[in-house]
Amino acid sequence: MTARIRSDLDSIPSYVPGRSYPGAHKLASNETTHGPLPGVLTAINAAATQSNRYPDNRNSELIGALAESLGVDPARVAVGCGSVALCQELVQITCNRPDDEVLYAWRSFEAYPVVTKVAAATPVTVALTDGAVHDLDAMAAAITPRTRLVFVCNPNNPTGTAVGRAELERFLDRVPDDVLIVLDEAYFEYLRFPADDSPDGIELGRARPNVLVLRTFSKAYGLAGLRVGYAVGDARLIDALAKVHIPFSVSRVAQAAALASLDAGAELLSRTDAVIAERDRVRAALIAAGYQVPPSQANFVWLPLGALTADFGAASANAGVLVRPYGTDGVRVTIGDPHENDAFLAFATDSSTAASFADATSSLAGATDPAR
Ligand SMILES: *Cc1c(COP(=O)(O)O)cnc(C)c1O
Repeated sequence: MTARIRSDLDSIPSYVPGRSYPGAHKLASNETTHGPLPGVLTAINAAATQSNRYPDNRNSELIGALAESLGVDPARVAVGCGSVALCQELVQITCNRPDDEVLYAWRSFEAYPVVTKVAAATPVTVALTDGAVHDLDAMAAAITPRTRLVFVCNPNNPTGTAVGRAELERFLDRVPDDVLIVLDEAYFEYLRFPADDSPDGIELGRARPNVLVLRTFSKAYGLAGLRVGYAVGDARLIDALAKVHIPFSVSRVAQAAALASLDAGAELLSRTDAVIAERDRVRAALIAAGYQVPPSQANFVWLPLGALTADFGAASANAGVLVRPYGTDGVRVTIGDPHENDAFLAFATDSSTAASFADATSSLAGATDPAR
């Protein structure tokens, strides 16, 4: 006899990490290519000397600093072991019955189906538009009396597309007040919208108690390995998150690194301009080679390769560039340093590669529209 395990876990695919090998360019995880700044490393080292002690479970100092930099009350801020842990905790505070529904677009962040199924809630998905953008009208229409939580990933991982403020506000205003809307803004720092249409969830949430925003230190702040994300929303939601939080799951080192990174915010965020310049260069080169690529507001681009997704991923790996294939939907390519992007483009825009793959992306509507 072996211990009985929930049979419904069989429907959750095991995480398959991207393969890697020495010398390969890793453009598969949306990481930053730069290591921590010297000042951040100093803070990490100092915090590490106290590793015999439990960290501050309330994350008080970090929450205070975040609240100040965002201009919100500290009671509106929670910190988690990566924002992916907060995704899980948000399902835990909203869903406790199998017919509770969690709504999200698909394809979107891979963690949403996992955290929903782990909570034994019911996932409800709404297809992206032909342009690989959130179909907010269809999502509003998919809300039922059983909907407890809606994830809107903006910009969307893995397609990079984003919706602007006006469109988002129209959606928020259509969702019933008793449904929690989570705006997952993991790539917020890479957005470049006109100021009057900037989809800043923290601003949109100020007057909407059912809107909560997730951001993270993993992407533009370059701390993916240390696991710190945060939530900003109504104090009632923040209090509820504290109840399901795994104690001490944000280490002292992580808290110290996040604080120091927040202090160095101007320097860290100025790096996003170079990533965006590269993003636009990579996209333009792919379009020139015949691919359809949706406009990206994140640090990656999306190739909707359909049935050829796995073949493209394997061919790219053979060419020394690891990208992220998603089933039969497409391939996500993280923007790396210029020489890494050049290596990817040398593969993807090579005439034989383009001849084999570019046409497969043609299902994407409006993708060559240079707007945004
Ligand atoms: C990377 C990512 C996150 C956060 O990751 P953490 O490292 O857990 O903070 C959250 N949402 C999306 C959509 C992401 O791509």
